[in-house]
Amino acid sequence: MLTSVPRGTKDILPNTVHEWLYLENKIRQLCAVYGFEEIRTPVFEHTELFLRGIGETTDVVEKEMYTFSDRSGRSITLRPENTASVVRAYLQNKLYADGNITKLFYIGSMFRYDKPQAGRYREFHQFGVEALGEQNPMVDAEVISLAADLLTELGLKDILLKINSVGCPKCRPVYREKLQAFFRNKLDQLCKDCQSRFDRNPLRILDCKNPHCKEIAADAPKITDCLCDECAEHFSQLQKYLTTVGIKFILDPQLVRGLDYYTKTAFEFKYTPLGAQSAVLGGGRYDGLVEECGGNPTPAVGFATGLERLLLALETQKLLPAKENNCDIFFVALGEKSRQTTFKWLQQLRRQKVTALMDYSDHSMKSQMKHANKTKAKYAVILGDDELNKKVAIVRNMLDSQQMEIPFDTLIEKLIFEVNK
Ligand code: AMP
Repeated sequence: MLTSVPRGTKDILPNTVHEWLYLENKIRQLCAVYGFEEIRTPVFEHTELFLRGIGETTDVVEKEMYTFSDRSGRSITLRPENTASVVRAYLQNKLYADGNITKLFYIGSMFRYDKPQAGRYREFHQFGVEALGEQNPMVDAEVISLAADLLTELGLKDILLKINSVGCPKCRPVYREKLQAFFRNKLDQLCKDCQSRFDRNPLRILDCKNPHCKEIAADAPKITDCLCDECAEHFSQLQKYLTTVGIKFILDPQLVRGLDYYTKTAFEFKYTPLGAQSAVLGGGRYDGLVEECGGNPTPAVGFATGLERLLLALETQKLLPAKENNCDIFFVALGEKSRQTTFKWLQQLRRQKVTALMDYSDHSMKSQMKHANKTKAKYAVILGDDELNKKVAIVRNMLDSQQMEIPFDTLIEKLIFEVNK
């Protein structure tokens, strides 16, 4: 127990942190180019926010939240996603105050009591963007472009973009009825989950993963045939803008989001080689959510992507950078007096932004050189009693094993010169 992490969580160890940084840096660069600003919200919120912001009938809320009472008896939930928190922060901090579009992004841990498997964890990381305050489909196209640019820039191939429109509270009830009429006499052939979705949330039957439900749903009426004029126009404009900027997509009328505050655009990027976990990025418009959370009606669109899934996809396509070795100088000191001297040099170099390490032990020269090799240092600087007396240090090039003796008074200057060559 004490030496293992809870199921569904994992340590991100020093040998993989560079991969996370690589991904996060690409994300931050891209968000800056697109004018999205970073926001960091608390890892836990009042449970009520997620009941409202995600919806009480969703799997996430019904089965997957980490909810507990704190010591004052308040119901607290570890965030299972970040959109509701961003909307809360937007309202609480009046980020809408200047009346323009507000473009935010986040990177952080999310928590879901999911069944752990490859690419599915209980603590996972999402990067997401939210654009609040604008209903123009050009913003939907912008958000999709940002996602597409990220995946392209990472070098991922075999990525598929699917888009759909889920209508709005005006046209969706008509579709809902059509859908119920279609499924009514097939109810007994659907899975248990879909049977309970039939009344509460029939659109969700369309994205059930059960192969038999999928087969039946294939002939269901299409929402795109039931859109009101406004939603149909919005959807056709979106397609036009995506085409204008050269983004390929396919129309998928089965791509849905079941809750009322989801409106118009829904989209998903799939990386098919990931199999069951092929959904790497999903998003859409949620024009009803800000109002649901207590604000004025505010159109909004965004997406979220799982960083573990992206990293998994990058790994399978061998697109991750190798870990860089950045140790320039390694000091090998023999005896306490030498150690004191090299410790002073070590700090002098670090203050000049040279990456330097030393062995603090009184181990043999051989053992300290082994340590130096392990750090893949470019140079080892060796100091023993003889060198101390002569006031020189031995500088060994670890690549070609060439050694030279450098007088103390020019050593730091020489080392800085060598590492910057
Ligand atoms: P969602 O918030 O459910 O729309 O998920 C958005 C993205 O988060 C998905 O496309 C996945 O990439 C990722 N994701 C969702 N759940 C998990 C999980 N349990 N483990 C890892 N990644 C996840």
